[in-house]
Amino acid sequence: MLLSAKLTSPRVLQDLLRRHDFRVKKKLGQNFLVDANILDKIIRSLAPAGEHRVLEIGPGVGTLTRVLARKANHVVALELDLELFPVLEETLRGCSNITLVHGDAAKTDLGRLMETAPGAGPVVVVGNLPYYATTPIIFNFLGGSLSWERAVFMVQKEVAQRMVARPGTKEYGALTVTISYYTEVETAAVVSPDSFYPRPEVESAVIRLDRRAKTPGAWVDPFSFSQVVRAAFAYRRKTLENALTRYPGLGLKKSLVRPLLVAAGIEPSRRGETLSVEEFTELAFALGPFLRRTATDGEV
Ligand code: SAM
Repeated sequence: MLLSAKLTSPRVLQDLLRRHDFRVKKKLGQNFLVDANILDKIIRSLAPAGEHRVLEIGPGVGTLTRVLARKANHVVALELDLELFPVLEETLRGCSNITLVHGDAAKTDLGRLMETAPGAGPVVVVGNLPYYATTPIIFNFLGGSLSWERAVFMVQKEVAQRMVARPGTKEYGALTVTISYYTEVETAAVVSPDSFYPRPEVESAVIRLDRRAKTPGAWVDPFSFSQVVRAAFAYRRKTLENALTRYPGLGLKKSLVRPLLVAAGIEPSRRGETLSVEEFTELAFALGPFLRRTATDGEV
């Protein structure tokens, strides 16, 4: 009966949760989608087709997952809350092309996950992301080894604004620079709190990320790029010369930082928040060979 029932109906959802004695966990960002129009918008933005494999982050009770499975070659759904697994077993019964995986999307090696998953074909990524972990999940996703084509995420509206911010504004930060380095981003919809159960306190937005065929500027290794961006925004009120010297992970001396900034064509007294993504690339290219390498190499 349930397979034909709409999980976007608040009545059906609440009945399902009650039958499984499931209590919604606010600390895991569990705001389930109960709006069929928004579900439709997410699916249309992602455009999964027969050749695609889908990685879904945080399937919840399987509302999106069931629809994705009808359209794609295979769906890998990564969920942190083990208590949702009995619910998912019920809602996804009869769908043979779904692999449910238990794990933390901020820490899982997503490239390896999809390499070892069944099915074949290009990967598209989707998730109504838990708000408490949106940034670490996106950094893990972008900085890892996953080869992907397109991603559609539901995020807090304020996070969506940070993703598309202009240099020099207060929203412009490490997230903005990292997103625009790897992707072209657009906002597909603004979503009211009424589209979720339980209702969150803030508005949300659906964003679509298209992976750039080539990152801007000269090729820079992901470690150098992420370290330089982190350092610049860790001390956003300081000049770049001071921020890069202070950031403990870099291990750079002031006597080296100044000439390298000048060599990259960047005035040392500027603040990191004024640099464009192309200037960050130049800077990471110049500083890269001098950065201290640690066990966390490769992280964004
Ligand atoms: N996709 C469902 C929907 O749209 O109704 C649920 C979305 S709900 C906003 C976020 C989901 O992510 C929940 O199922 C939650 O348990 C799961 N989650 C929370 N933290 C996670 C993490 N670090 N890794 C993977 N899933 C997580």
